[in-house]
Amino acid sequence: MSSSSVNTRVNSRTICECGYQVIVKVSNTQQNPGRRFYGCAIRVCGIFGWVDLDSNRTVQPNQLADLHNRIRTLQTSNEQYRLEFGCLHRMEFELLRRIEEQKMLNNELKKENVLLVKKCDMVPKIVFFSKLLFALVIAVVVLRSLSS
Ligand SMILES: [Zn+2]
Repeated sequence: MSSSSVNTRVNSRTICECGYQVIVKVSNTQQNPGRRFYGCAIRVCGIFGWVDLDSNRTVQPNQLADLHNRIRTLQTSNEQYRLEFGCLHRMEFELLRRIEEQKMLNNELKKENVLLVKKCDMVPKIVFFSKLLFALVIAVVVLRSLSS
């Protein structure tokens, strides 16, 4: 592909003969290293057009190496983010599981609380009957001591 085969009618909205929208690729030829061009997305038809029609706007080999380094750096950090995301996803799962556990515990505590409230309602009655029983015992003791 040389700059003489410029097709100015190909742009980012062009649909190729295969029916796909053209994609941007990067040339690795000696004449145009790093120069971007439009091409067939599935590499079947030979549609072609430079992104930058000015052939001087090619990327120099050292710039290309720099860009490759940046891509590698970004891929590395992307991989780290993916790992962190996985970690956070597991933590979220664990937290949701704990929330469910806490909800179940909370429900059990509510049931126990209802039972305790019922028992507490009985306390004044028990106290009343205990006092009544005590008074009766005292009365019996007093009556016995008076009759003897
Ligand atoms: Zn095509």
